[in-house]
Amino acid sequence: MQKSVLVVGAGIGGLATALRLAKRGYKVEIIEKNSQAGGRLNQLKKDGFTFDTGPSFFSMSYEFKEFAKDCNIELPFKYIALDPLYTVNFSRSPKTYRLYKDIHKLAEQFKDVEPDFEIKMRKYLKNGKALFNDTVDIVIKENYNSVFSYLITLMKVNPVHLPILFRNFWQQVCRYFSSDDAREIISLVAFFLGRTPFDTPAVYTLLSYTEFEHDGYFNVEGGMYKIIEGIVEELRKENVTITYNTEIVDFVANGRKLDCLVDQNNRQWKSDIVVVNSDAASFRGRIFKRPKFSMEKLDKMEWTMGPLTIYLGLKCKLPQVEHHNYYLGDNFKEYANKIFQTSGTLQKPYYYVNVLSRNNPGCAPEGCESLFFVCPVPDLRFKKNWDDKDEIVNSILTDFSKRINQDILPEIVSKTIYTPVDWQNQYNLHRGSGLGLSHKMLQIGAFRPTNFDEVFKNVFYVGASTVPGTGLPITMISSKLVVKRIEKMGK
Ligand SMILES: Cc1cc2nc3c(=O)[nH]c(=O)nc-3n(C[C@H](O)[C@H](O)[C@H](O)COP(=O)(O)OP(=O)(O)OC[C@H]3O[C@@H](n4cnc5c(N)ncnc54)[C@H](O)[C@@H]3O)c2cc1C
Repeated sequence: MQKSVLVVGAGIGGLATALRLAKRGYKVEIIEKNSQAGGRLNQLKKDGFTFDTGPSFFSMSYEFKEFAKDCNIELPFKYIALDPLYTVNFSRSPKTYRLYKDIHKLAEQFKDVEPDFEIKMRKYLKNGKALFNDTVDIVIKENYNSVFSYLITLMKVNPVHLPILFRNFWQQVCRYFSSDDAREIISLVAFFLGRTPFDTPAVYTLLSYTEFEHDGYFNVEGGMYKIIEGIVEELRKENVTITYNTEIVDFVANGRKLDCLVDQNNRQWKSDIVVVNSDAASFRGRIFKRPKFSMEKLDKMEWTMGPLTIYLGLKCKLPQVEHHNYYLGDNFKEYANKIFQTSGTLQKPYYYVNVLSRNNPGCAPEGCESLFFVCPVPDLRFKKNWDDKDEIVNSILTDFSKRINQDILPEIVSKTIYTPVDWQNQYNLHRGSGLGLSHKMLQIGAFRPTNFDEVFKNVFYVGASTVPGTGLPITMISSKLVVKRIEKMGK
């Protein structure tokens, strides 16, 4: 008999899992708290402008291709390789680094600050490649039933990588590069995982290899939200329904079987199998009331940055600004050490700027620009009150105007700000943490909240806070792993 699956959450993890399962013959339906699909990968349309609200590029494009192949569909969106990957500007200098994938071209820009950059970079990437080849398929793309099976798998990894387990990202980068500019630029990718190079394990330096050599970064034609629109359309063809404005707030169980979930209107949702795309740690605490995931215990876990995001419509063009840009200060270490704990860092903010209309003219009216800023800030455990958000945003916009030699403040015709309070309330993200649980050693692999429930045999999880971790391609892997589990259960 056809088994029914209820997916809780229409983030990319939930949608991808729903399609994989529908294609395998399950009867799937989705419920979503918000009025549109996408979760953190979302879109805001306002005042004639279109903004991607969260992710602005992705790596490991082959995970999307694999998804399309698995579902026997054409990938429902087009992506474009970025080169330069992004630009970096420090407040200490007017110079803008362009992060080209061509290492020779990249090295040219470091010739005054880092002697032999090209040789060092090639060595660094060679190590990243070895790490990638020796870990990604063996460790990251696997399900673990126990810590024991995870440790056995780790033992299969080439022991040459053992010393790296005792270093952080920054320490690893410092072994290859000596200048501040090179060290800070190369270790920026740790921020993409939502933490800093000082508390991200060195094993993630494999990401530098994925950035520069293995695959690169990609934009989506028409904006990132095309990914969601494309998958939703494929789901429609499979008769998968999505019920919006429906939030799960409670449950009814029968021993080790979850009987049904209950929404805010007291409606009961029954199915043979449930896949939770809501945060895997906080759902266990808030809805299933598991003591191991109580608010107190959740607060003690290590979470990724709270994002402060700004969506701006400008009535002018910014030809001097590329599509993806990082603006850093001159106190990298001090900033990184304080960023998650105090709001003091917000006086001299570090931030990312995306000019969506640069390659997608349809996202802004003629002669205008659609801009998206992300500034990493403390989550709500460390900064509860955001009444000062306008002041903080003004300091970012003033700093940006100085860096690009153009005052954008009088040009603003549309402005929207999301603080960690908004991120928390919109998507049930714990304390407004943007990327979910961090990737410290004791929160990855079998130590991450599992993709199967500890109590209910018919409940599974997909998404950023379960295995393998956060980011769009990794969430696609997460959907593959959970489907493997569900299929195994059915046999
Ligand atoms: C500002 C920002 C920038 C980012 N940039 C990038 C980037 O450039 N590249 C990249 O690869 N990644 C990026 N990420 C990370 C990426 O967005 C996430 O890893 C990914 O989108 C997570 O998808 P998900 O399906 O796990 O969760 P979500 O997108 O959070 O989806 C979960 C869904 O479940 C719903 N939900 C929650 N609770 C309930 C409930 N009780 N009942 C019903 N529905 C519920 C939510 O509303 C949501 O729609 C960024 C994240 C942020 C916040």
